[in-house]
Amino acid sequence: MTRFFCIVAVLTLLIVPASITAQSSAYLKAAAERSRLSEKSFNSRVCDHKNDAVAARVLREYGAVFVASEEILVPAKCVFENGTAVTEFQSRTKLASQRFGATQITLQAGAMDALNAAIKDATAAGLKITPRGGSIGGLRSYEDTVRLWNSRFNPALAYWEGRGKIAKADADAAKKLTAYEQVPLVLKWEQSGYWFSTGFSRTILSSVAAPGTSQHLFGLALDVTEFANPRARAILNKRGWFQTVADDTPHFTYLGRAEEDLPKYGLILVERNSYKFWIPAKQ
Ligand SMILES: [Zn+2]
Repeated sequence: MTRFFCIVAVLTLLIVPASITAQSSAYLKAAAERSRLSEKSFNSRVCDHKNDAVAARVLREYGAVFVASEEILVPAKCVFENGTAVTEFQSRTKLASQRFGATQITLQAGAMDALNAAIKDATAAGLKITPRGGSIGGLRSYEDTVRLWNSRFNPALAYWEGRGKIAKADADAAKKLTAYEQVPLVLKWEQSGYWFSTGFSRTILSSVAAPGTSQHLFGLALDVTEFANPRARAILNKRGWFQTVADDTPHFTYLGRAEEDLPKYGLILVERNSYKFWIPAKQ
């Protein structure tokens, strides 16, 4: 019996990495194809995940959007370096704005149409689907993402400096950097267990996106008040809206795809506490 289990264990070790690799290349292939680029060009021009640790992390955490349907515009970069690059991208997208109660939400038009269809389905089922957290529940500016970043970065830096984990000189130097430059530094500190989320217990990226990387910048994300209701989630899923950022439960991404097709694009299903997250396999 023991020998049998050993063989099973060895086979599992051999088979699992192979299947992960296959899934991951299915994702990169689909992402490159969707951007109408070769895989090599996608890697160098859109997301240099092979050489840049931040790009690699961003693609893994938020990359589902790169295989979204053809009806919407996907970004030409996985990390926008500044507000100018974001404004340029947003000016090329077809945006739609709509009021939900007192909250004005802006999204790419295709995403808004699908949201309205989901809201209609929800109403027919006696449910609600509403934006969470005001207007920034939808489209955000680069400045919005920097402000959110600072709301986690500044308290965490003070916390770890106060505990003697980060030297004052390093903390002072970090404060002078741009948000874009702070990202790799924070990820490095987090490798030592100095977490930058609210509560200092998880990665900052499960709490806020790195500036210039949020799916909210692309007009393809909506934070939803009723995220804890499985029936509301199923309705959103049916209309192409999915949870694609692990552990960010209120956050939905418009992919405009049928759920059963998502594995074809190299996305894998991760289930946590009855939530389903569709995320790219590790590249
Ligand atoms: Zn969100």
